[in-house]
This record gives sequence, structure tokens and C-alpha cells, in this order.
Amino acid sequence: MILVHSFNSSIDITYQIDHLNIGQVHRPNTVIKNAGGKGINVAKVLNQLKENVLLMGYIAGNNGKTIKTKLEDITLSNEFIETDGESRICIAINDGLHQTEILESGPLIKKVYQKEYIHKLKRKQHCNVQVISGSTPILEDATPLEHTHTILNSIESNYNIVDVRASELQQLLQYDEVHCIKPNETEFDELIGFTCEHLEQRIDVLKHDPLFQNKDVFLTLGGNGALIKRNNHLYRAHIPNMQIVNPVGSGDSTVAGIAYGIENLFADEMMIKFAMACGISNAMNEQTGYISLSQINELIDKIKVEKI
Ligand code: ATP
Repeated sequence: MILVHSFNSSIDITYQIDHLNIGQVHRPNTVIKNAGGKGINVAKVLNQLKENVLLMGYIAGNNGKTIKTKLEDITLSNEFIETDGESRICIAINDGLHQTEILESGPLIKKVYQKEYIHKLKRKQHCNVQVISGSTPILEDATPLEHTHTILNSIESNYNIVDVRASELQQLLQYDEVHCIKPNETEFDELIGFTCEHLEQRIDVLKHDPLFQNKDVFLTLGGNGALIKRNNHLYRAHIPNMQIVNPVGSGDSTVAGIAYGIENLFADEMMIKFAMACGISNAMNEQTGYISLSQINELIDKIKVEKI
């Protein structure tokens, strides 16, 4: 079973308008409402891959009920802790040229609900792969680091993938329970504290920086594929040029592909190809956290993995 945590789930609303004018009234051409958040995207992709996935998280109020209903509509197994307040709404306004985003921060998670979450998690005892993805909500009497570390210690898991803010990752990487991270280029630079000028520099950092010692790192490079450190070997994934529609959520889909590859005991190069194919397939589709199995099968043959 793959367990995915989404601590700060949202209702994601996308308004498509012709042109955004500050101070004016806008009537959207289309409105899309979805359950969102990085962890939810990961779980959605795993669900489409027909993997045995369980989504856990906090939800609150009527927005929380809507999130749950949306997930039940797509038969995604979920177990949420219901907290006080309202789950957040994240709005994206798209005028064809630009995307303007308004992101709420979500409710405060009281200590009592944090304890309830841990209690629920401990009762599960074991999972094979665990994913923690997305921002941490505002917590009563706990830092994001403490919260994530407690989660990682509350269930036995063979492989933990953590995809959270670079500022949180920096400290989390000191823990043996973090096995894999998936930063993009910006997050990677933030993590190491300086801007890499070229790929060779990134390779050098991945090879020598003690921060990444004994960690698997999927450093994704958007349309340029990825640099991967897996089992202390380095790989470069070269991806084909495809017709891209919407790359938002490609990183989350890549995380889902990694989790799927680990769960299904894929050899390293196959796992890398599969994870890349999930990211590209998401970028080839309009919806966030949506992949196509036939696209993935076609893409796998076109992705080249080079050991470096
Ligand atoms: P997000 O935060 O939107 O989920 P990210 O910034 O974490 O994404 P990216 O590096 O943009 O992640 O993309 C992850 C993977 O998805 C890439 O390694 C690649 O395989 C695929 N991908 C993303 N953008 C493109 C693109 N424009 N063309 C082809 N593949 C892409």
C-alpha cells in the first residue's frame, strides 16, 4: 500500500477569463473546481495507475466536505481528520497569457487534531511506500519540522518520499527516515543555498554535498528532464519534445511515478523512465494531476536514461 499525506488540502478553483483588469468585474468563460494540493495530485495519479493508495490529511468545514466528496467521486480511498475552521480555497485566474493566483493559508491545526492524526496513523502500523507532499498548515505548538518528523516516526515504512518546501527540507534531510526528495531547479538552489549556473555544477553538488548522502534525489528540470541520484548512482534522464498543454502538477505526477516504481520493484532505470513519463503525460493534459496510461506506454520508449 502507498500512503500519501496531504496536510493542507484545498478546493482549487480555476477561472478562465479573456483579460484580467484590476478593479473591474469579470465573468469567467469557464470555472473548474477540483480537490487540490500537491499530496492530492500525487494520490490522484496513483489512483489512475490503479495502485492501492490511501490518502490521509486534515480537512475542515464545508470546504473540507466538498474536498472529500470530490475524492469519493473518483473513488480515491481517503481517511481525513476533521478539524475546526474551513479548508482553504486556492484561486487561479487564467487569461490565456498569465495565471494570477490567490492562495489561502488554511486553518490552524490544533494540538488535539495533530494527536488524533498520529493516533490514526499508528494504528495502521505499516505501509510500503509513504509520500509527504505539499505545504504544512499552521500548527498549534509545533513546527512543520516537528510535525513531519513525528509523522515519519509514527508508521513503519520501507521508503519515504518527502516533497515539501526547501526551507523545511534542509533540516528534514538530516533524518534517516527521509529516503527520497524531488526538488525542481529553484527548490534545489534554495536547498543548497546558492544558484547553480549549469548542469555540471548540479551534478557536482549531487555527487559531493553531504546533505544528499545516502538520499535518493530526483532533481527535475521541467522540459529538460531530470538529474537523478538513486542508490548512490547518478543518472541523466533525457525526455522527448512533446506538445505541452499544462505543466502544473508535473512534479507531483513525477512523485507518483517514483512511488509506483518503488512499490512495484522496478529496476532503477525503468523507475526513472516511468516517473518521467508520468510527469510528461500530466504536462500533455489540461487537467492537473491527470495522466494517460497509453501516453505513458508510448513515452517510456522515447525517454533515455544515461548513467553519469
Ligand atoms: P509542479 O510544482 O508544477 O508540480 P515541478 O516544478 O515540481 O512541477 P518540473 O521540474 O516542472 O516539476 O517537472 C517535473 C517533470 O515533469 C519533468 O522532469 C518532466 O519529466 C515533466 N515536465 C515538466 N514540464 C515539462 C515540459 N514543459 N515538457 C515536457 N515535460 C515536462
